[in-house]
Amino acid sequence: MNNSPYFSEELNMLRDQIRRFIEKEVVPNGEAWEEAGKVPRDVFTKMGQLGILGMRYPEAYGGSGLDTMASVVLAEELGRCTFGGFSADALVHTDMASPHLANVGTPEQLARWMPSITSGEKVCAVAVTEAGAGSDVAGMRTRAVQDGDDWVLNGTKMFITNGVYGDLFFVAAKTDLEAKGSRGVTIFAVEKGTPGFTVGKRLNKTGWLCSDTAELIFDNVRVPSENILGEVNKGFYAIMKNFQNERTVLGAMAMGEAAKAIELTLEYVKNRPAFGGVLWDKQAIRQRLSERSAQVEAGRQLTYHAAWMDAQGMDCVKEVSMVKAYCGDLVNKVLYDCVQFHGGMGYMRETPVERMSRDARIQAIGGGATEVMLEEIAKRL
Ligand SMILES: Cc1cc2nc3c(=O)[nH]c(=O)nc-3n(C[C@H](O)[C@H](O)[C@H](O)COP(=O)(O)OP(=O)(O)OC[C@H]3O[C@@H](n4cnc5c(N)ncnc54)[C@H](O)[C@@H]3O)c2cc1C
Repeated sequence: MNNSPYFSEELNMLRDQIRRFIEKEVVPNGEAWEEAGKVPRDVFTKMGQLGILGMRYPEAYGGSGLDTMASVVLAEELGRCTFGGFSADALVHTDMASPHLANVGTPEQLARWMPSITSGEKVCAVAVTEAGAGSDVAGMRTRAVQDGDDWVLNGTKMFITNGVYGDLFFVAAKTDLEAKGSRGVTIFAVEKGTPGFTVGKRLNKTGWLCSDTAELIFDNVRVPSENILGEVNKGFYAIMKNFQNERTVLGAMAMGEAAKAIELTLEYVKNRPAFGGVLWDKQAIRQRLSERSAQVEAGRQLTYHAAWMDAQGMDCVKEVSMVKAYCGDLVNKVLYDCVQFHGGMGYMRETPVERMSRDARIQAIGGGATEVMLEEIAKRL
């Protein structure tokens, strides 16, 4: 139950349902997924059966027509699962990749792909970043050249979540090679198995170990025109638009992680004997955890407000950038303290906050690094 006025009874019920799913399916299995470096496909189909993957999409495609607030509920609860790699895989599918199709897809494209996305039979990914172009999206070098009814795609994408086991990839490429800066980018839907499209390598990471992050190679990949999402040469604007949803969701995930880490740490310090009492008796520890709890509450409320603005169709770039900058940094500060107050146990692989501290690091980098977000805020001050 979340007593914020931003959440209806329906959303509170949804939260309970997602929490039950995570307790049953994710918490007992997450460590095995981390070892295997993979989230089993049936987890996606189970989420699909529960309606979690299609919450934002119309009923006609297996969805339930909810808004940004539902994504926030999902992201916060996924954040609480303590396995950031799983949270990332799921949220890339629901909120970072599939919106590229859902927002602009033609009726034919929607009918072709949406049902298998909302059911979890097809897992999707979004491929924008390249080794030479991350924060500076406009610097991408992957290109597509028209050839009859097809486009021929060449280039390499980097750090792509769901990259190894995904089925449907929304790939950004330059289509107007003369266009300057952000112009001349188009998004293509590329299916696994398309000739010339391969996984270069699976990437070893600090955290998010169960998430399959990969380098993707496009070598003369022929993509039919009917796989273009939205308008040719207008893809950059679609990427920027979806960044608002993506960053809100990443903020909510970070606050779910931070809140859970504080709960785990409170449980630990209230029971850990030290100096004739327990660690919680120490004012320094009590005050630091109180301060962090207040900051997490502030981060959550800011996230809810930005999500609400987004759901109303309001311009919320400043607020969403604040969410991403504030929450992405804060989760790292919280996890640093949580590891610290677990002492040596905080450094052990068996302790959830150890994994969570590694998982948190990317929250200040991926999907808009903190400094990039601060520049977005600065432009609007
Ligand atoms: C595990 C993981 C999963 C990912 N998943 C995906 C995915 O599914 N799809 C996808 O397309 N991408 C994905 N990414 C890419 C991610 O979004 C980028 O790594 C991120 O945008 C940063 O880009 P970069 O790594 O090229 O860093 P750079 O752009 O080289 O920046 C390096 C650092 O410089 C600083 N910096 C950058 N720009 C500025 C600025 N303007 N002012 C001040 N400082 C600045 C920041 O501190 C930044 O961290 C993923 C990355 C990781 C690590």
